[in-house]
Amino acid sequence: MKAEYFRNNKYILTMLWRIRKGRVIGEFLYRVLYYLYWLFYDILFLKYLVESLERGRSFAQIMTFIVAAMVGFAIPSILSAWYLHVYKPRSDADIFEAVHTMLFEKATRVELRCYENTEFYNRFTLAMKDCEQRMTQIIENQCIILTSTAASVCALCYMFQIDHFVILFIAGPLIGNFLFGKIINDIKFRMNKECIPYVREMEYVNRTLYLAEYAKEFRMSGIFEVMKKLYETGFLGIMSKLKEYQNKRVLLAFVRNIFVFVVIYQGVIFYSLYRVMVSHSMSLSGFTVLFSAMNVVAWMVIQASEAIILSYEDSLYIANLREFLEYEPAVDERQAGILPADCEKAAPGGGMLSFHHVGFTYLGQEAPVLHDINLTVQRNEKIAIVGHNGAGKTTFVKLLMRLYDASEGEILYFGSNVKELDLPAYRNLFGTAFQDYQVFAMTVAENVLMRTPQNEADYQKAAQCLRRAGVYERVCRLSHGMDTILTKEFAQDGAVLSGGELQKIAVARAFARDYQIAIFDEPSSALDPVAEYELYENILKGCADKTVFFVSHRLSTAALADRIYLFEQGEIAEFGSHDELMRRDGKYADMFRKQAKNYVGGTSDVA
Ligand code: ADP
Repeated sequence: MKAEYFRNNKYILTMLWRIRKGRVIGEFLYRVLYYLYWLFYDILFLKYLVESLERGRSFAQIMTFIVAAMVGFAIPSILSAWYLHVYKPRSDADIFEAVHTMLFEKATRVELRCYENTEFYNRFTLAMKDCEQRMTQIIENQCIILTSTAASVCALCYMFQIDHFVILFIAGPLIGNFLFGKIINDIKFRMNKECIPYVREMEYVNRTLYLAEYAKEFRMSGIFEVMKKLYETGFLGIMSKLKEYQNKRVLLAFVRNIFVFVVIYQGVIFYSLYRVMVSHSMSLSGFTVLFSAMNVVAWMVIQASEAIILSYEDSLYIANLREFLEYEPAVDERQAGILPADCEKAAPGGGMLSFHHVGFTYLGQEAPVLHDINLTVQRNEKIAIVGHNGAGKTTFVKLLMRLYDASEGEILYFGSNVKELDLPAYRNLFGTAFQDYQVFAMTVAENVLMRTPQNEADYQKAAQCLRRAGVYERVCRLSHGMDTILTKEFAQDGAVLSGGELQKIAVARAFARDYQIAIFDEPSSALDPVAEYELYENILKGCADKTVFFVSHRLSTAALADRIYLFEQGEIAEFGSHDELMRRDGKYADMFRKQAKNYVGGTSDVA
C-alpha cells in the first residue's frame, strides 16, 4: 500500500511536471511563502513585539520594524496573488486539457472488447471522473505535505531553543496523530471501496435519466419505478456503510483530537505556566512565543495529516488512471504494418478476403460464438449474411473489420494475415453502417462526412452520399438543409428525424469514406421491406466497383447478392447464390418461403 502510494504520486507528479513544470514549481513556492509568512508573524514578529515591550524599545523603532516587515512581504504577496488568480487557473486548464487528451486518445486506441469488460470500463469512468479537481489537488497536497512538515520542523527547533523539554509534549501527539490519521484513513478507504457498487448503481440511474435515448421508455413504462428502487438500494447501501463505520470513525477522530489538542495545548500551557509562575525560569515573552509556536505547529500538523489523508485517496484515483493509461491494448488501434495496397500487389489474383477455420469466443465466455468459418470473397463481390438472431452475423462482421481478433484460425487480406496489416489503413478500406449506429449532435453534413465540410466540393460529396442513401430530398426540406443540426441537444431548431431517415443518414456516412469494402449490418431494420429492398438495390447499383457485405433479416433483400451465407449457431449452414440455394431446397429455401408467405399475409420479417 505504502510503496504503491509513493509510486502513484510519483507517477502523477512526473506527468504533471512534463505537462506544466511552472505549475509544480509555482505551487511549491507559493506554499513555502505561505508557511514562511505564518512562521514569521506568529513566532518571530510576535517575539520581537513582546520583547520590545519588555525591553522598552521606542514606538518609532517598533513601527520601523512593522513597516519593514510589510514592505518585505509586499512583493511576494503580489506575486502570490498573480499566481493564484492568473497563472494557476490558466495552467490548470492546460493540465486538464492535456490529461483529457491522453485519456481520449487511449480510449480510442484500446480494442473494442475493453468496453465490454466491466472492470476496464469502471477504470475508464473512474479515471475520467473528477479528473480536473484531482489533478490540482494532487499538486497541492504534495506541496502542503512537504512545506508544512518543513515549517513544523522549523517551529519545533525554535521551541526547542526556548525549552528542550517542551518538545516532548509535541512528539507524542505528533506520532499519535500520524498513527491515528493512518487508521482513520484506512477505514475511510475501506468504507469508500465497499460503497463503490452502490455509487455505481446511483450513477447508472443518474446517467440514464438525462440521456435522451431513455426518455421515451421512462414516460411510456413503469421502468422509472424500477430505477427509483435501484437508486434507493444504492442510497440505502451507502447509508448502511456509513452507519457500519460511524462509531469507529467518531471514536478515532475523538481520540486523535484529544492527542493533538489536549495534550499539546494543555500540557504545554501547564508546563510553561509552571516555569513562569512557580520556578520563575521563563520570561513572559518566552511563554507567549512558546504558546504561539505550539499553536502554529498543531495547525501545521493538522494540515499535513489532512493532506496525507487526501493524497491516499488521490493515490487510489491515480491507480485507476495509471492502469488505464498504461494498459497495452492487445489490438493497438494505431498498429503499423503492411499496407493493404502492398498486399494486393503481392497477390493480385488471390481472394480479397478469406477466412480459414476461424473461431471466436468472447472474453469471459466459454462457448465459442463462431466456429470453423471458411470462406473466400473476391473483389467486387456482393455478399449477404443471413441467419436467425444470435447466429453470429455481427460477430463475423466485427472480425472482418478487425474490431476483434479471431480466437482460432486466420483472416487473410490478399493472402496476408490481417493481424500483420497497418490497422488504420486496413480500417480505411471499410465504409460501414451498423444497426446500432450513432447520430451526433452535429449538422447533417458533418454526420455524413464525419468532419466539418471545408468547401463546396465537400457539400457536393455529402449531397451525393445522401442521394445514394435515398434521404437527400428529406434533408433539403429541413430548415437549414445539410447545415441543420440533428437532435435538439444544442439547437432549438435542430431536426428530429424518424428512425428510418436516421438509418439512411448512417448509410450515407458509409458512402462518404474512400472505401473499398462496404459493410451494412442491418442499418435498414427501421425501413419497411419494400423500402429496404429499394435501398439495397440502390446501394448495390452504386457499389458496382466495391466489395459489399450486408447483413439482413429479409431474405428478399439477400436475394440481390452474388452469394449468400446462412449462419446458424456460429457456423455456415449453407451458402451459394439465391437460385442455387432455392434449388438445394434446404434451410434457406424453407426460410425464404416462410417469409414470402408472411409478406403476402402482411407481416414483415420472420428470421
Ligand atoms: P447476430 O448478429 O447473428 O444476431 P451476434 O454476432 O450479435 O449475432 O451474437 C452472437 C452471439 O454472441 C449471441 O449469443 C450474443 O449473445 C453473443 N455476443 C454478442 N456480443 C457479445 C459480447 N460482446 N460479449 C459476449 N457475448 C456476445
